[in-house]
Amino acid sequence: MDLDSKLSDQLRGIPRSGIRDFFELVIGRTDVISLGVGEPDKPTPWPIREAAIRSLEKGQTSYTSNLGLESLRISIAKYVEEHFRTSYDPKTEILITVGVSEALDIAFRAVLNPGDEVIFHQPCYVSYAPTVTMAYGVPVPVNTRLEDNFALRASDVAKVITPKSKVLVLNFPTNPTGAIEPLDELEKIAALCVKHDLLCFTDEIYSELLYDGRQHKSIVEFPGMRERTVLLHGFSKAFAMTGWRLGYACSPPLLTAAMMKIHQYTMLCAPIMSQMAAIEALKLGAEAYEPMRQSYEERRNFVVGRLNAMGLHCFNPGGAFYVFPDVSSTGLTGKEFAMQLLEEHSIAVVPGGAFGPSGESCVRCCYATAPDLLVKAMDGMETFVKSRKK
Ligand code: PMP
Repeated sequence: MDLDSKLSDQLRGIPRSGIRDFFELVIGRTDVISLGVGEPDKPTPWPIREAAIRSLEKGQTSYTSNLGLESLRISIAKYVEEHFRTSYDPKTEILITVGVSEALDIAFRAVLNPGDEVIFHQPCYVSYAPTVTMAYGVPVPVNTRLEDNFALRASDVAKVITPKSKVLVLNFPTNPTGAIEPLDELEKIAALCVKHDLLCFTDEIYSELLYDGRQHKSIVEFPGMRERTVLLHGFSKAFAMTGWRLGYACSPPLLTAAMMKIHQYTMLCAPIMSQMAAIEALKLGAEAYEPMRQSYEERRNFVVGRLNAMGLHCFNPGGAFYVFPDVSSTGLTGKEFAMQLLEEHSIAVVPGGAFGPSGESCVRCCYATAPDLLVKAMDGMETFVKSRKK
């Protein structure tokens, strides 16, 4: 049987993830220091793990309501109100999902008709464009620039808006750059959404991980935005819960109901033990993530200092746990830099081009890595950079 001819045309058009391609080279090598994968180095804080263990001991192993446990939705409403100064009804406006990944997927599928355009800023999380394509939408990337510290210019968004534009996706702090959006630009972008009647999906997954005393402000807080926004958030990053696969979407009842239609038939519900753990995570709140945030801030300061000292231009990112240095001073592209650094010094970073063409001269380094390994990685990188400088 010619299986290839049986594959969906829609899927055929989607390239493999550049990150995965690169990491196949690393799999099975125990000698590699990895600054590659975007996840916390520490396990989930113990009281959160303990809550899940307790729930298993009690035999809580069933399905939950499709929307998710009501007690968790009530906790999320309280948390979101505190962090985003926006209130959502736990009965009709909050849907618990299998990570922000599922929330993004069902949000796109709930609103896109074939040919509808989705605008997002690039370099960006690798899933946005493929998820839009799988929902029969058209990805419309807007490049952000190193000289702007990868913030998004409202004027660049305005240039790509057409009658087919339906959704704008934002992610600040940004994976892979750590960029923060200046408030005046965010305000202008909100005004564009209102003027052109766009939906906005705001991926808030790094919103707790901010540095230098910054306070987060989401686009949902601007006038006219709540009614057109899906706020996507989860537990993976701030609470170090990537493996629990838990996230949520907050949006007006009509959008929640539309997403719920897909979720109930494809996922049924998120795992109950993860939901029980998440209730504990929200009970602890900053007590759980603040020690990790502080430690990431120290590591960011160290890594940014070392990279600039070795001649790799790197702006000081205001959030998330990534730095995105420009490696062009070595005469190499991001991809060449990453391949050669891996071959010669067994240090893994991700070529910036994996996140979109405007990142091709950069590499992404995740500094949520043990501090002693970060020192070794920076030492190795410095030796490598010296060897490449003419
Ligand atoms: N959005 C962004 C910007 C991310 O970086 C990630 C994970 N790397 C996700 C969404 C997916 O997160 P989750 O584990 O909640 O599915």
